[in-house]
Amino acid sequence: MSNKISSAPSCADPFDPESISMSEALDKIQQRVLPVHACERLPIRECLDRVNNEAVKSPHNVPPLPNSAMDGFAVAIGSLAQGEVTELEEVGTAFAGNPFNGNCGPGQCVRIMTGALVPEGTDAVIMQEQVEITETGKIRVDSDHRVGENIRLAGEDVVKGEIVIDAGARLSPADIGVLASLGIGQLQVKRKPVVAFFSTGDELVSIGEKLQPGKIYDSNRYSLHCMLSRMAVDVIDLGVVKDEPAAMREVLENASKRADLIISTGGVSVGEADYIKPALADLGTTEFWKIAIKPGRPLTFGQIDASIFMGLPGNPVAVMVTFSQFVVPAIDALAGAKPRRPALFRARALDAMRKKPGRYEFQRGIATLDDKNEWQVAKTGKQGSGILTSMSRANCFIVLPDENDGVEAGDEVQIQFFDWSL
Ligand code: AMP
Ligand code: MG
Repeated sequence: MSNKISSAPSCADPFDPESISMSEALDKIQQRVLPVHACERLPIRECLDRVNNEAVKSPHNVPPLPNSAMDGFAVAIGSLAQGEVTELEEVGTAFAGNPFNGNCGPGQCVRIMTGALVPEGTDAVIMQEQVEITETGKIRVDSDHRVGENIRLAGEDVVKGEIVIDAGARLSPADIGVLASLGIGQLQVKRKPVVAFFSTGDELVSIGEKLQPGKIYDSNRYSLHCMLSRMAVDVIDLGVVKDEPAAMREVLENASKRADLIISTGGVSVGEADYIKPALADLGTTEFWKIAIKPGRPLTFGQIDASIFMGLPGNPVAVMVTFSQFVVPAIDALAGAKPRRPALFRARALDAMRKKPGRYEFQRGIATLDDKNEWQVAKTGKQGSGILTSMSRANCFIVLPDENDGVEAGDEVQIQFFDWSL
């Protein structure tokens, strides 16, 4: 008889034959999740982070007409004497929004401000720092200037008829600015996906309630709410659901009537109170239920009627890791947006990290620039998937791919920063 107990693969094992790889999981999400169809027309200010439905063509040139890029003097290069200083007569001033309407002939120039239309008869703007003004008010310029100098050409930003924003683009602050520069006040965008979420667990109590022995406060619903708030989705918070099969079924049925995406946390491992998988098997279909990552291996992905279901693990760090890696792409796909890949940067590890090959790991790191302006990264201390302060102290994930078999201090690793603003 063997003196060892043979065990099924668990969270403690680096390799689990039932787990699918990170990239397979992302592929399946991409295949399964269909974009919402409905669109709405909105004022552009409300279109931030929404998905553009039809390519936008520019109705005119930006800028519409040639204008000055500097404060200075508009001149005709042809009227400057080669190799000499020419004295010009100032015949007026062109302001941004108030053009000079007269004529600028030979021997003359026009005082011009940034953004003002370039007057008839001139073809260059000489910076005010490069001229001399005589006591009698004449403008002295040398011949070291060229046609087009300091002039922004009509259409140099956008040419009339050009596509400025593709269909499927997620609208950024700059895109909204570009639309405004074209005078476009409204845009047709895809409707927001509706995301319903709930926590599971008999141990969970809400803030304000007394903590009896064995109970903990529900934090997942708060971090989830906040992560979802940063995306262009409508959220439905379905609260805490008891570890009872009937309760799970009820909440899932209800959610599937109201949401494009249903997210639960907890109850997806193989404990005796883990009822999510059987409930999904009853009500819908399961595409996969384990991914070779740490933390966050038990992640159930499937469908209930037309709704996508993602059963995230219960541990608070695993919730945030799986949200960033899998829920964000699922929401992007639902929204009809082009997939985006998180940017990875190279950094020097300041700490050793133990790891066995076989799964992707997302350790929590604090990245800083060293004195050579290169990224270095330290761990945020204990890395257990229940240690939520490891997330709140971090500014990045330290991403260790499947094949990585541990890191020594000084090794190069990849990091993924948490947030973005533009
Ligand atoms: P489970 O996957 O349900 O077995 O949960 C795994 C671990 O995460 C357990 O220690 C749970 O107590 C904890 N947990 C589950 N849900 C939450 C939650 N909403 N907030 C905080 N901790 C949770
Ligand atoms: Mg549980």
